[in-house]
Amino acid sequence: MKKIVVAIDGYSSCGKSTIAKALAQYAGYTYVDTGAMYRAIGLYTLRHHLLAEADIIAALPKIEVGFMLIDGAQHVTLNGEDVESQIRTLEVGNRASEISQIREVRAFLVAQQQKMGEAKGIVMDGRDIGTVVFPNAELKLFLTASPEVRAQRRFDELVGKGQQPVYEEVLKDVNDRDYRDTHRAESPLRQADDAIVVDNSTMTREEQMKVIYDLFDRHQ
Ligand code: C5P
Repeated sequence: MKKIVVAIDGYSSCGKSTIAKALAQYAGYTYVDTGAMYRAIGLYTLRHHLLAEADIIAALPKIEVGFMLIDGAQHVTLNGEDVESQIRTLEVGNRASEISQIREVRAFLVAQQQKMGEAKGIVMDGRDIGTVVFPNAELKLFLTASPEVRAQRRFDELVGKGQQPVYEEVLKDVNDRDYRDTHRAESPLRQADDAIVVDNSTMTREEQMKVIYDLFDRHQ
C-alpha cells in the first residue's frame, strides 16, 4: 500500500498530539510532534538567557533537536539530552510561541521537518504543516475546539503532571497563544484550503478517532 503524508494542524490543546499519535500507530507511520521541537528551542533560550532575536538566531547552529524512543514513547532531545518533561510547562510553551515568530527559527526547523517526511509514511502535527511544511500532503486535518474546552483539557493535563494550575490563567494562556499563533507575520496558523476541519468540542475520543481513521482509509 502506498505511503502518504498526513498533516495535522490546529490550535493549542485541541488534542492534536493524542490524535496524531493514535493515527500514526493505526497506520504504522512515524509520528513527529513539531511543537516539541519549538519547545526544545524555547527551553534552550531560557536556559541560556537568550532574549534578543539576534542572539537566538546566532545560537541556532549550536542547537540540535532530535527524538528518541523510551519505552515506546517519543521523547524530544536537546543536544542529546532527553528534555521531554522539562518542555511540558506553561513557561516553555509560551517561550516556544514567542521564538516561533522568528523567521530564521522557523526555517531552521521546517528544513528538518521536510527531511523527516521525505520517505512519506509520516503523521506530523503543528501549526504550519499543511500550509508550509507539506503543502502537498495527501491528507490534511485542521483540528479545533472551543477555548474553554481546550483550557479545561490543558488544566487536567497539568494537574495530571503534578502541577497546580489556575483555570483562569490557563484559559488566558490558551487565548493569548491562539492570538499570537494566528496573527504572527511568519507562517501564521491558518487552515489550508484543502484541509478537512474536525471540531472535537463535543466528540468523545472514540467518535473522533473513528472519523479520522475513516478519513485516513479513504486517502490510501
Ligand atoms: O503544539 P505545542 O503547544 O507544543 O506548540 C508550542 C508552540 O510552538 C505553539 O504555541 C506555536 O507557537 C509553536 N509552533 C509553531 N509551529 C509548529 C508547532 C508549534 O509555531 N509547527
